Amino acid sequence: MDKVSEIFGINVFNDSVMRERLPEDVYATLKSTIKEGKGIDSSIADTVASAMKDWAIEKGATHFTHWFQPLTGITAEKHDSFISPTDDGHVIMEFSGKELIKGEPDASSFPSGGLRATFEARGYTAWDPSSYAFVKDETLCIPTAFCSYYGEALDQKTPLLRSMAAINKQALRIIKLFGHDDVKRVNVTVGPEQEYFLVDKNMYDKRPDLIFCGRTLIGSMPPKGQEMDDHYFGVLKPRVASFMRELDRELWKLGVLAKTEHNEAAPAQHELAPIFTTTNIAADHNQLTMEMMKKTAQKHGLVCLLHEKPYDGVNGSGKHNNWSLSTDTGINFLKPGKEPDKNPLFLLSLAAVIKAVDEHQELLRISVATAGNDHRLGANEAPPAIISIFLGEELTHLLESIENGEHHDNAKRERMNMGSDIIPSIRKDNTDRNRTSPFAFTGNKFEFRMLGSASSISDTNVMLNTMVADVFAEFADRLEKAENFDFEVNSIIKETMDNHKRIIFNGDGYSSEWEKEAERRGLLNLRSTVDAIPLLKSEENIALFSRHGVLSRTEINSRVDIILENYAKTVHIEALTLIEMMNREVIPAITAYTDLLCTAVLNKNSIGGINSSVERELIARLSAANKEIYSLTGELKMAVSSAERTKDVLEKATMYHDTILKLMGDIRKYADSAESVVPSDYWPYPSYGDLLFNI
Ligand code: ADP
Ligand code: MG
Repeated sequence: MDKVSEIFGINVFNDSVMRERLPEDVYATLKSTIKEGKGIDSSIADTVASAMKDWAIEKGATHFTHWFQPLTGITAEKHDSFISPTDDGHVIMEFSGKELIKGEPDASSFPSGGLRATFEARGYTAWDPSSYAFVKDETLCIPTAFCSYYGEALDQKTPLLRSMAAINKQALRIIKLFGHDDVKRVNVTVGPEQEYFLVDKNMYDKRPDLIFCGRTLIGSMPPKGQEMDDHYFGVLKPRVASFMRELDRELWKLGVLAKTEHNEAAPAQHELAPIFTTTNIAADHNQLTMEMMKKTAQKHGLVCLLHEKPYDGVNGSGKHNNWSLSTDTGINFLKPGKEPDKNPLFLLSLAAVIKAVDEHQELLRISVATAGNDHRLGANEAPPAIISIFLGEELTHLLESIENGEHHDNAKRERMNMGSDIIPSIRKDNTDRNRTSPFAFTGNKFEFRMLGSASSISDTNVMLNTMVADVFAEFADRLEKAENFDFEVNSIIKETMDNHKRIIFNGDGYSSEWEKEAERRGLLNLRSTVDAIPLLKSEENIALFSRHGVLSRTEINSRVDIILENYAKTVHIEALTLIEMMNREVIPAITAYTDLLCTAVLNKNSIGGINSSVERELIARLSAANKEIYSLTGELKMAVSSAERTKDVLEKATMYHDTILKLMGDIRKYADSAESVVPSDYWPYPSYGDLLFNI
């Protein structure tokens, strides 16, 4: 086996490759473009393109693609080969600067939410030089942003890049106020932990629900679930271990810093965590990670399920978005240091996050709203649909002492001693481990735990970046004018606590008391996607995103439509799958087994004197269930047609949520109760036991 250090990044056109292969001046220009997040200088594009092509061909590439993330939530590629004909009937391999910088995929098949009139199907992809190009499947992949003819964002990456610029701008104002004049850029750093399930490919192939929906629509619980908690951090099964080893290597070759792999709470559930990096790269890498998980699983006779809730009654999968801010000189805004009470930059940043999260709770909730994730949030395994912040007791006390002016005298305050000798320093084990909080301070970063496992991390970071940028802007406005800087910092923190303390909650987020308490505090509890999404287009939010140049009114409106459309489509497919499973497999299976029981009763009767009460009872129970399944399936079919006739997208999504999902749940109850008494060779699908424990 090759050494890790030798394979890491071998398929990436990274900094060292650029330095080696580009003329010195071109390298310098490109490097400063990347470092300072500036636009690309088109005069160097041809040189870069040609070097990239030569390198890619050496790695076995024959094609190139602009790799982008449309609003379908996954990545898209359109492959072109490098070949170009010559006069003498041969071909040469060519790749121009123009082809590198700009692409023109046919955009009409990607969701645009009405942004692109149908006659204007053109969309453009534009190179993101801050995320390295790479070779995958004999193709040079160029990370790009995707927009309409008029420059409106049609993807996840464009707003993400804009939000990074917005927070950079405001955070720079803040850091300069603290005297760090050498700082050129503030980066958002993100480390997304990714959860997933593995299932045996042969079992998977027998489940239409897994194939079409990524989750099981029926299935009764096996005798053993996850109650033993024996899977979490347990020893890896050999097949899983070899999958993980190969996955790590594939990711390393692509420059993804895959770091930790372990079992998760549910059986057959696992997690991969990378080392954190700049947000847009983290987002690209997370997409690559998900893709590689799926591909690598196939090679091991497995299927990787990224759905948030593949199995009812078993923990679902999420993604933890670890988020912080760092300068190019290495200062982390959220690092408390040994004496957080004497670290005003840290306390001010903490205050900014608290204020931002409280003022924009709905944005964080919206950023994780999908049909899949709705099954997970608030189901006693994932954070509830209520946003709150966990700070830990020490930090909370520190902020409260500032709020109450305790342990402060005027002299001290002026010297920016943030008060209180009660907190000598953050003890490491005290800053974390409230797993029930959706948004937890964990040492030197915030960890947002509500994301669904299948989603792109972009939306969440767009929201976080923009809302914190907005609060930083407000703080900077005040501090730039302040006569007494230290005093003003202190006032800002005090006011933030006065007005936004309600968002801080250090207790058990899964308890029902918290739901009541949160309601008393006036916190939002947006239970489903259809409750959450419409709030995105409030005038306040439109103003917020416009103010920072992240999303325009048109872009926001189109996004609301796309998310609701996606929601309706997802449940639509699930409903059709369930109908087909019932009509073609479950109902006939129950009938067949009932038939067998009837024959048994007849036989017993013909002999006489043999008790057939068990058979009779089963016949009664199964026939009743089958009748319910049959009539509910009919009802479901009608409900789907009526939803499909609905023009208004919110109304349609609401019908899918209120009526169709509920009917599906009812059908499931009868099907699961039948499954629990029908012998396995009569039941058409592998059981939960087979799926969860057979790897
Ligand atoms: P856990 O949450 O399971 O305890 P860790 O503490 O190891 O895991 O870290 C989780 C993730 O947080 C990792 O991806 C790590 O790289 C990331 N992380 C650590 N520091 C930062 C930071 N300053 N900014 C963003 N992410 C970070
Ligand atoms: Mg974590």
